[in-house]
Amino acid sequence: MRILVTNDDGIHSPGLTALAEALATLGEVWVVAPDRERTAVAHAVTLHKPLRLHKLAPRTFSVNGTPVDCVNLAVLKVMPKPPAVVVSGINKGVNLGDDVLYSGTVSGAMEGTILGIPSIAVSQEGQQTFRFSVGAKYAARVVRLVLERGLPPETLLNVNVPNRPQRSIKGVRVTCLSRRRFDNPIIEKLDPHGRKYYWIAGTRVSWSRSKDADHEAIQEGRVSITPIRLDSTDHNTLDRFRDWVPMIQTNTVAPATRVRASARRKG
Ligand code: MN
Repeated sequence: MRILVTNDDGIHSPGLTALAEALATLGEVWVVAPDRERTAVAHAVTLHKPLRLHKLAPRTFSVNGTPVDCVNLAVLKVMPKPPAVVVSGINKGVNLGDDVLYSGTVSGAMEGTILGIPSIAVSQEGQQTFRFSVGAKYAARVVRLVLERGLPPETLLNVNVPNRPQRSIKGVRVTCLSRRRFDNPIIEKLDPHGRKYYWIAGTRVSWSRSKDADHEAIQEGRVSITPIRLDSTDHNTLDRFRDWVPMIQTNTVAPATRVRASARRKG
């Protein structure tokens, strides 16, 4: 059984090492990961420069690219056969709610899903230090089940582990993505020449859009497991927008069919 491990914190991240070690009990682990930190690159692919592979150890390679580049190179070039599972992480810090749209960790797993391979993203809550041994333990438990039972074809699992010692973990919850934004996201400062510059920073604020939100599980000290689908089509609103088609085709607007934000949410 071959297991592909990647991440977005780079090949030297201790989270990657902890994950690879924990999964070695389940199969033959191959590591293909970025040669440096690529946090928050989301689903970027490298198109405008050559990608280079460096073999660092048996079945261990770094790439001068993104997590998505790594998964593609690993599956299509490096590994003799596609892996049974792709596991991305363990990320330094949680990937909850809207974070999944920016996360290189989640995108690494998502690329596995796109290639038809069951895939899992694993992230560890923490600030300066991270209890990767706890995250690795839960990652191995989830991966073992995925290897045994599989995943739906367009679904990946996003696993987040709270910052607690193993004995203080309160349990496991299957969750939904929350909303997560930065409070005061752009910090404006002046450089020594008096010119403005900007940092994207600020404080995270989370809120639930439904019950079983992922950030609540982490606050409670539970491991959060969110199934995420590739298909983000809003199937509930297809008919509503089909009503727009004649108006777009003829460049007319019938006022009564305007979509209100409030009506749309109920759909
Ligand atoms: Mn990261």
